[in-house]
Amino acid sequence: MELRTETNKTKVRVPMREQPPQERARNFLEVPYGYTPDEAVEEASRCLSCKNPPCRGGCPVEVDIPGFISLVKDKKFAEASYRVKEKNALPAVSGRVCPQEAQCEGHCLLGKKGMAVSIGNLERFVADLEAESGEVRVPEKPKPTGRKVAVIGSGPGGLTCAADLAKYGHQVTLFEALHKPGGVLIYGIPEFRLPKSVVEREVEYISKLGVEFIPNAVIGRLYTIDELLDEHGYEACFVCIGAGLPMFLGIPGENLNGVCSANEFLTRANLMKAYLFPGYDTPIKAGKRVAVLGGGNVAMDAARVALRLGAEKVYLIYRRSENEMPARKAEVHHAHEEGIEFLFLTNPTRFIDDGKGNVCGVECIKMELGETDASGRRKPIPMKGSEFQVEIDVAIPALGTRANPILTQTVPDLAVNKSGYIVVDGETGMTSKRGVFAGGDIVTGSATVILAMGAGRKTAKGINEYLKWKHWEFNGQCI
Ligand SMILES: Cc1cc2nc3c(=O)[nH]c(=O)nc-3n(C[C@H](O)[C@H](O)[C@H](O)COP(=O)(O)OP(=O)(O)OC[C@H]3O[C@@H](n4cnc5c(N)ncnc54)[C@H](O)[C@@H]3O)c2cc1C
Repeated sequence: MELRTETNKTKVRVPMREQPPQERARNFLEVPYGYTPDEAVEEASRCLSCKNPPCRGGCPVEVDIPGFISLVKDKKFAEASYRVKEKNALPAVSGRVCPQEAQCEGHCLLGKKGMAVSIGNLERFVADLEAESGEVRVPEKPKPTGRKVAVIGSGPGGLTCAADLAKYGHQVTLFEALHKPGGVLIYGIPEFRLPKSVVEREVEYISKLGVEFIPNAVIGRLYTIDELLDEHGYEACFVCIGAGLPMFLGIPGENLNGVCSANEFLTRANLMKAYLFPGYDTPIKAGKRVAVLGGGNVAMDAARVALRLGAEKVYLIYRRSENEMPARKAEVHHAHEEGIEFLFLTNPTRFIDDGKGNVCGVECIKMELGETDASGRRKPIPMKGSEFQVEIDVAIPALGTRANPILTQTVPDLAVNKSGYIVVDGETGMTSKRGVFAGGDIVTGSATVILAMGAGRKTAKGINEYLKWKHWEFNGQCI
């Protein structure tokens, strides 16, 4: 990475200070410290204030990026935060975890010849500063419309939709299966990347907009969608339940003690606070030698959590090479720095039993890359006779997740595709069932926080229009 000097200041962004790798690998404190006001102003001053700003086109929630950055330049920090919050109810969250390099920053003109403006870091800065000031501005409540909407699932998509619906003046109830709102933000993404206090404070802001939260409410079990619509007075439902059902390898030994899906491992560590033992007594098998299987963000999170829980050695086993890894570059860089050992072009073939039902090793085979496959990446092919074993006491498959059918199977007239994802109209979020909208991972499959938020915004607009006209159209047909 190019270092920032007096001569290349416009080309190179103001770096964000962070905890040194050796220190942070053993604690759960947030890795980057955030900008100081001076650093933020300096970084904002790099913005070219383009006449037709391409960065805006890269933001699924349509934040006025040049507008808020120009306010930062002028040191009008609170106004900058209000400007962001006009479109984004979760700015401190998205500032931290949105893959900006593929969104707004990916469109920044400065990125063509140097480094894009650090839009995410600035967004985080203004949101944190407003919160720290203790004077969080909540927009005035609009005149109530008297219409009731149920939002099901409180991840970033559900939260965003609920916030926008409340701003339209509708009465919004957010039903959440878990005991805490936030979805993946609260149960999946670890504390050192996204402190839970940050999620809680943005959820509190959404409550202040007038959204009512009902936790421990598994829709499909507690109530069906039909009951919400027909008996509880809701005129529309937004289904945003994520895609949280973990996938497994399907290899021998996967049922051994010590093999645990990344989803469960992270939920125990984050939501159930196992990392604060003995303050919280959630059991977790931390492991001394841990193998994490997969190459996405979830694998990176699981590996870095395992390290912080005290593992002496953490292997990240991935069947392709580093170039094909789907995880964000920044996360891979952090994992490398912290000492995670990457075994690329390696695939697990079986877990080994210690004779007492516990995992004590994983057998792997070396892979080589062949032709490009349907995913656009080169296909990994096993190399005969290259098997080898790695000694471990915990294995964490992190192979992705898929749709959980608990809700959808109770709604027979809701169209889903062959993988169980809900089919919607891309513009409005309308489903095949009148009054029911959907968005986020349960529509797209596992994606990103900002795409779920974008779907939440778009669908809130779709629901608002529907409540006005009661017009329903699915696949070009009026229902
Ligand atoms: C460990 C991990 C790390 C990630 N890191 C990043 C990252 O750094 N950046 C990024 O952009 N994306 C990341 N992602 C992906 C991102 O978090 C998701 O794409 C996003 O959260 C999807 O939002 P959502 O609102 O659709 O669903 P979710 O966040 O999955 O929320 C769905 C909510 O619905 C609830 N629910 C499910 N079924 C029911 C029901 N029947 N009744 C009531 N409630 C129900 C769930 O409990 C959950 O709270 C990560 C994902 C994981 C798992």
